Amino acid sequence: MFRPLTRAPDHPALELEILEWWEERGIFAKLREQNADGPIFSFVDGPVTANRMVLGVHTAWGRTLKDVFQRYKALRGYHQRYQNGFDCQGLWIEVGVERELGLNSKREIEEYGLAEFARRCRDVVVRSSRALTEGSIRLGQWMDWGNDYFTFSDTNIEYIWRFLGLVHERGWLYLGHRSTEWCPRCGTSLSQHELTQAGVYQERSDPSLYVRFPLLDRTEESLVVWTTTPWTLPANVAAAVKPDAEYGRRESGEWVATARYPDERFDRRALGEELVGLRYRGPFDDLGPGSEVDHRVIPWEDVSLEEGTGIVHIAPGAGQEDFELGRLHDLPVLSPVDEAGRFYDSYGWLHGLSTSEAADQIVGRLAEQGYLLEAGAYLHRYPHCWRCDTPLIWRVTDDWLISVEEVRQSLLDANATVEWIPAYMGKRMDDWLRNMGDWNISRRRYYGLPLPFYPCACGQLNVVRSKAELLERASGPVDDLPELRRPWIDAIRIRCEACERDVERIPEVGDVWLDAGIVPFSTLGWKNPEYEPEGYATGAAKGLTAADLPDHAYWERWFPADWVSEMREQIRLWFYSQLFMSVALTGRAPFRKVLGYEKMLDEKGREMHSSWGNTIDAPDAFARMGADVMRWQFCAQPPDRNLLFGFGPAIEIKRKLLTLWNSVRFLVDYGNIAGFVPDYADLEAAPLGEDARPLDRWLVARTRAYLADATQALEDQLTHRLIEAFDEFVDDVSNWYIRRSRRRFWDEDEAAHQVLWHALVQGIRTIAPVLPFLAEHLWQIVVAEPCEDAPESVFLAGWPEAGEPDRALLAEIQEVRAIVALGHRARDGAGHKLRQPLRALVVEGAELALDHAGEIAEELRVKSVAFEPLAGTSVRAKPNLKLLGPRLGAKLPRLRDALAEGRFERLPDGRVRAEGHELQPEEVFVERAAPDGWALAEEGSLSVALDVRLDPELELEGRVYDLVHAVNTMRKEQGLAITDRIVLTLPDGGDLDRFLEWVKSETLAVEIEHGSELAVRKA
Ligand SMILES: [Zn+2]
Ligand SMILES: [Zn+2]
Repeated sequence: MFRPLTRAPDHPALELEILEWWEERGIFAKLREQNADGPIFSFVDGPVTANRMVLGVHTAWGRTLKDVFQRYKALRGYHQRYQNGFDCQGLWIEVGVERELGLNSKREIEEYGLAEFARRCRDVVVRSSRALTEGSIRLGQWMDWGNDYFTFSDTNIEYIWRFLGLVHERGWLYLGHRSTEWCPRCGTSLSQHELTQAGVYQERSDPSLYVRFPLLDRTEESLVVWTTTPWTLPANVAAAVKPDAEYGRRESGEWVATARYPDERFDRRALGEELVGLRYRGPFDDLGPGSEVDHRVIPWEDVSLEEGTGIVHIAPGAGQEDFELGRLHDLPVLSPVDEAGRFYDSYGWLHGLSTSEAADQIVGRLAEQGYLLEAGAYLHRYPHCWRCDTPLIWRVTDDWLISVEEVRQSLLDANATVEWIPAYMGKRMDDWLRNMGDWNISRRRYYGLPLPFYPCACGQLNVVRSKAELLERASGPVDDLPELRRPWIDAIRIRCEACERDVERIPEVGDVWLDAGIVPFSTLGWKNPEYEPEGYATGAAKGLTAADLPDHAYWERWFPADWVSEMREQIRLWFYSQLFMSVALTGRAPFRKVLGYEKMLDEKGREMHSSWGNTIDAPDAFARMGADVMRWQFCAQPPDRNLLFGFGPAIEIKRKLLTLWNSVRFLVDYGNIAGFVPDYADLEAAPLGEDARPLDRWLVARTRAYLADATQALEDQLTHRLIEAFDEFVDDVSNWYIRRSRRRFWDEDEAAHQVLWHALVQGIRTIAPVLPFLAEHLWQIVVAEPCEDAPESVFLAGWPEAGEPDRALLAEIQEVRAIVALGHRARDGAGHKLRQPLRALVVEGAELALDHAGEIAEELRVKSVAFEPLAGTSVRAKPNLKLLGPRLGAKLPRLRDALAEGRFERLPDGRVRAEGHELQPEEVFVERAAPDGWALAEEGSLSVALDVRLDPELELEGRVYDLVHAVNTMRKEQGLAITDRIVLTLPDGGDLDRFLEWVKSETLAVEIEHGSELAVRKA
């Protein structure tokens, strides 16, 4: 006996039960044990930032894909690593703690104390990693929880030090003096790749100012510049013109590019090169720094004539291009603001103001002095800090950089060995590799990888490569170094290797992408001489994980990863930093295959923002739709398009899953009546006897074809193709096989039960990676419990082998189903419901379905089916008014009449000639029409005509079908079991007498009584 199924699955409840069952039975451990000697499939997890206290649905998407492919590979017998990773350092963590503590600047952090601040940061990681683990387990992700890697472990840090040592050895490391994007709130520069993250460029309104710079040697004349960053004006040192562009002088003496003002009159015109060298008074020469500058006009080819005035204000201390141009012309650099983006004291009345606070004052002062020509607002896309949303500024600073020039080609070569899915993401990586600048690795922050750089006055840059080396070279005793971290490490001074002087570490910490990029080395034991149990649990990671530090032989086995997967954004982030570090260390790519995917939006296609109230936390989704439904939603998504996630689509998915559920329930209910006991061996060899019926042979063929498609979809790493194939398969099982075979189940036909069981179980096995809970639940009911020798879990049963399907038979039934679908369409058009029998169907163009007239007749409830050319049809044409209206105008009505009256000629190329016009195929709708009393439907070369005329006999039969339907509905409403016999009460009158026996057999009535209204009661 099968355990009965409820009417519909309660996904959340069922999932919690299965989670507990897996845990009790140790199913995941058994699976790993079972595969321990299998071939290796190496997966490396990209770390999730441990700063949120709840799993987000974005994260759940990626985790689902990882889990689906790990489960699939496990079903195929692969030995795998299941190490989950947490990203634990950097601004994400720091900014969260600052908010919790109400700290608002770096000064406040330092006053708070770095040791305590570090403790709070670690505490965030501890709490977040617990919450994320809990959410991931609930999602159904099978990982080696408890052996996770944490990027703040000393081991991870030491591996990065080693990498930096090598980079230094090769001469790629340098201290750069340059202009860089800077977050004034976080007080640090950001790197190019950080600016590529989603949400960095936001629409923003800034002042739009037209400002006059008076020329020194030509009184009454001035240059007009345009700027949207008023705070940069006090740093102005030059004005740039395009040498070969024409400039004009207005009557007022103002110079602008003539191309920008084509309608204006100019009393003098000159080329830009004639203006070069002119000297002008700077707008803020009354403030200290500006007064010493000799402001002059310089040439610049790149001056834009698309916006502004064609004269560009240049402030090398406050703009990237300006800085480069300044180098070229040897211009002075005025740096007006400090790390916090506030004006230095030397800027007089501006001192202490932030760049935005200063804007108003600057505009006011310009107006007062008559320098301001026009002020407005300018809407543009402007970069913001990816972490704290503060608008960025440009500052000239000293940053540590890794030069990429020497390694660029090797990176491109390594990327060429990687298979990217979708392929365009690999091209994006190439573009990035070709165009990226040097890697800015230093951040002026606290909770991060301490850069092991100890510059010495003698010119030597000491780079420490390990904790042991640090302790050995320390110039004094080290008694307090719980972690390789600020503030403890800052107290350690070492001896310069060149001159023996004491030197100290630079205060900067490293870019977080170093932390994540080193993972394929630090977690796999690269160059580690001996396997160390729990050897990765060092520094801040101590007590949080029991992860081992394997030895180099282990690394050789597991590197490179066969597969990694993250969202597209990671091309320039994790995929890049991993690739860079791996190519530097080994010359090879760290992964063979990458599955990327696009962004998640809400179900209406909007970005998800907590301020808009449209974000969804995973626990909410677990409770309201269930993990399986979420996973289906993630997997149904082609990776090259944005996922529109929400509760709306979940309703549709539940409806689809109900079709599967109902099919299994049908098997369970009828199987129990028939006493059907499945045989596990039937899964291997399809359960077909010598004399198997065509429909059974078809279902076995259909199952095999589906298995082949499902396997291919997963091999191609395209889950949406698996979902589509599964959907169609379930529809075929439910809406073809079961519908066509009801009578046989009723008759307790063993073969029907066998092939249906076989099809459903194979379907369940293939969808198990996507729907682990539902699949496990159904496996228990239809396999593990009734079959003695079956594996206890669907995940211990391996992947089903697909035999070769009978393709000819499949094509045959496919055509039958196409004819039936057309028949339904024709019937719908005529307005007859399916219960109404009709006389005849004629099929034209069928080639394979000729032996299936009986099935087609039954499906469409027609009395005869003929395969022959349709007779008496005519061809009708109608104008496409949208196209022909504008083209023909007043001539249209005559053309329309001609088409309606059949006065047209069809040309061989699809065009139509009528009323002297030659019409393109898209300008006219040509369709065949059936003779009166017939309905016609066509698709491709297949056409059907359905006789839709009724006669009294047909109408009577229709009423009998209606009656049977009404009675069976009443049976269901009264909750009668499928096998319950009834007494049926029929209203008096009617002419149904000769159908009564048939009605009885269709409704399980043992007796018919006559009464005032239709009634059903249990006999
Ligand atoms: Zn910031
Ligand atoms: Zn030295």
